[in-house]
Amino acid sequence: MSQRMQGQPMVILGEDSQRMQDKDAQSHNISAARAVAESVRSTLGPKGMDKMLVSSTGDVTVTNDGVTILREMDIDNPTAEMIVEVAETQEDEAGDGTTSAVSISGELLKNAEDLLEQDIHPSTVIKGFDMAAKEARSQIDDVAEEVSVDDREVLKQVAETAMTGKGAEQNKDLLGELIVDAVENVTVEAEDGSSVVDLEFLDITTEASGTAADSELVEGVLLTEDPVHEDMPTDFEDAEVLLMDTALEIEEANADAQLSVDDPSQLQQFVEQEEQQLEEMVETIADAGVDVVFCQKNIDDMVQHMLAKEGILAVKRAKKSDIEFMREVLDANIVSDLDNFSGADLGSGDVTYDADNEWFVVEGDNSHGVTLLLRGSTDHVVDELERGVNDALDVVAAAVADGLVLAGGGAVEVELASRLRDYADGISGREQLAIEAFADSLELIPRVLAANAGLDSIDTLVELRSAHEDGDQNAGLNVFTGDIEDTYEAGVVETAHAKSQALSSAAEAANLVLKIDDIIAAGDLSTSGGDEEGAGGPGAGGMGGMGGGMGGMM
Ligand code: ADP
Ligand code: MG
Repeated sequence: MSQRMQGQPMVILGEDSQRMQDKDAQSHNISAARAVAESVRSTLGPKGMDKMLVSSTGDVTVTNDGVTILREMDIDNPTAEMIVEVAETQEDEAGDGTTSAVSISGELLKNAEDLLEQDIHPSTVIKGFDMAAKEARSQIDDVAEEVSVDDREVLKQVAETAMTGKGAEQNKDLLGELIVDAVENVTVEAEDGSSVVDLEFLDITTEASGTAADSELVEGVLLTEDPVHEDMPTDFEDAEVLLMDTALEIEEANADAQLSVDDPSQLQQFVEQEEQQLEEMVETIADAGVDVVFCQKNIDDMVQHMLAKEGILAVKRAKKSDIEFMREVLDANIVSDLDNFSGADLGSGDVTYDADNEWFVVEGDNSHGVTLLLRGSTDHVVDELERGVNDALDVVAAAVADGLVLAGGGAVEVELASRLRDYADGISGREQLAIEAFADSLELIPRVLAANAGLDSIDTLVELRSAHEDGDQNAGLNVFTGDIEDTYEAGVVETAHAKSQALSSAAEAANLVLKIDDIIAAGDLSTSGGDEEGAGGPGAGGMGGMGGGMGGMM
């Protein structure tokens, strides 16, 4: 912002506006960003604690998931929001590692502040951080172990590590197994021999009944719906399936039309006319050779009867997501207008009804779609379970696609820190100091893992560093025993993909904050929220106080 303003006519600020420049601006921004980062630290790792978030409408979320916490926190400060964006990018790109990414960006800013105090220019720090992030990423590839879709045991450990500390953990053995099966089911080999994971062919369905241990992997699409009519057949092999996203009834405009009846025959005529229209619908469907209709909207009672008479199975008010999933699995098109569809729009597959569970399973003839059915006693339980399973699915998919995994429990961070220090030795400028600060920041992870497990973080770090000096590149902290051990062997396994992404987004966010040297706010800096457009957006580097939602969290 400051650069754009240079050389321009003097800006006359309103009486209420405030301006902060250079160090004041930096330290203000750094404090805001650090505050956010520090708020999620206590949840890191298997021994991390959960947070209970209460929204303004009273909805309660209990979670250990970094991005969920930050999303729900109602943060009202533009700089702090940049840190929240780190979590969101991490979640979108990698599915896991949000708490790590956010914590590291906070630590980078803390260490950057020390450098700024030693009169090192922000642009030098920014350059050093960039260099370090790039070097760290290339070292990750060097430290990583290779994995393929056939390495079930390692993939299961990747899933289990991602679920650690989350609601999914109590059943991580079963869930890890289901997740690996699911990913295996939707993995295809590309022409060049690499593995492609088609997550569109994988769906998660939740049921707030039973316990997590009753979760299962269903081959095909799971529809928790009943047939619309009890006389309908429910099971088909190689069925011709029609997917519809509009209602099978007379359009509302017609049905609501005012009808003035002069003599009873007119009413009779009207009813007959409607009936005829409905009959035509059913005829069109039957003539096309349809066996099953899955409709996203309503189906008229009379149509239900007529379909039943024709021996056609129909389901109404199916979920949009299920209709879309079936489109992929059955290789069908979704039909909106019965006057405009052909046999080519139909899908084909097997349809089976499970009367005990009251759901349908639909399997495509040529596809490999699977549904992960997660169960838990209450909505809160299944929701947190789903978050954990989702993270785990993403990382297992990334591990298969990418083929690279790492030793967790702080092992990779300590190894990278040591390699970055070697790298810094070869850099002559002041950037060297920033690279060293980057290395120190990575070591936050083992320190926090130790602290959250009630262990001494300094002792842990000292021990870890010396193990790595001895060439033990997978030495990490086992938080359950407090021992330093080969965490890869112990089954604490992370993906190279998530770790690379975490380092990049942490460095980018820190640099974004450091680039700001001028804050101009249309209001009081210490109290104004970010809600006024213009003072807000991260790009503008505007300011606001910490919003009310934050206060209680810190
Ligand atoms: P994130 O949102 O960053 O994924 P988590 O709360 O999932 O945060 O914690 C991830 C960290 O916990 C990683 O550094 C991972 O290696 C570590 N971790 C997971 N399981 C273990 C374990 N059994 N022992 C030690 N560290 C573990
Ligand atoms: Mg995690």
